[in-house]
Amino acid sequence: MTKPKKGLAQHFLTDVGVVRRIVRAAGVHADDLVVEIGPGRGALTGRLLARADRVIGIERDEALCDFLGSRFGPGLHLRNQDVLTVDFSDLIRGEGFDRAILVGNLPYYITGAVIQRILEARRRFKRAVLTVQREVARRIVAAPGNRDYGVLSIAVQLHSDPKTLFDLAPDVFHPAPGVFSSVIRLDFHRETRYRIQDERFFFRVVRAAFGQRRKMLKNALLGMAHGRMEILQRVGAMAEIDFRLRPEAVSIPEYERISRALKASCDFSGQLHGTR
Ligand code: SAM
Repeated sequence: MTKPKKGLAQHFLTDVGVVRRIVRAAGVHADDLVVEIGPGRGALTGRLLARADRVIGIERDEALCDFLGSRFGPGLHLRNQDVLTVDFSDLIRGEGFDRAILVGNLPYYITGAVIQRILEARRRFKRAVLTVQREVARRIVAAPGNRDYGVLSIAVQLHSDPKTLFDLAPDVFHPAPGVFSSVIRLDFHRETRYRIQDERFFFRVVRAAFGQRRKMLKNALLGMAHGRMEILQRVGAMAEIDFRLRPEAVSIPEYERISRALKASCDFSGQLHGTR
């Protein structure tokens, strides 16, 4: 067996009780397709294979793929690939499935990028059970008013109900990571819960707001109104939002109201000034 590679964030689960709890939380049935990110030495994989018809493991480390291949045989479909280059839609449809269950004790150096890709492919997943750094989990589940609430909370909550299931101390892994971890579960909405008119613009507004999270909204969003406070006043009135609030106090539906009003106002003032 090769030594754990630090550069690939290899921290292997060694606690059987934790493995059982994670697999139980995934709610896998025999006719499910499971996609596992970073199976490593197969701590979760073995139990997933015992429950599901088909398991695909995406593992970047070639030596671990060889090991997994000999441990589990052809029942495990292995992709020796960087998960960030995987097209989840093609992968899942290619296996003849509409949706899959995603499980992963994520390599922490790419947590944010992996979550972004999962969200992009959310229609292909029933749910995801992921192990992430505890502070990332806190940001994902945070509600408005909480100091951890921000762009990540909004991005994940827009499309799923995230829950923290339990925390993990470093010593359930070998080698122990330098941080605590949390197991989270994302149940993806089948129907869009929030009607976002223009998601790109919505996230421009959200990013601009949290780019200056200590300021009042009216200052944080001034740049998006071309520096014109009168536009922002009109937006505040249209959206029925008090722009003296701080960005972390504003909910998803309120950000959507601001985005719509800001877009309409900017379009309108652009027309007036012939800038369109
Ligand atoms: N699932 C195993 C467990 O719980 O014991 C291993 C988890 S370990 C934290 C993360 C795994 O992700 C490692 O096996 C590592 O090689 C793999 N990995 C790291 N970067 C990756 C990437 N970009 N794409 C796919 N797998 C990756």
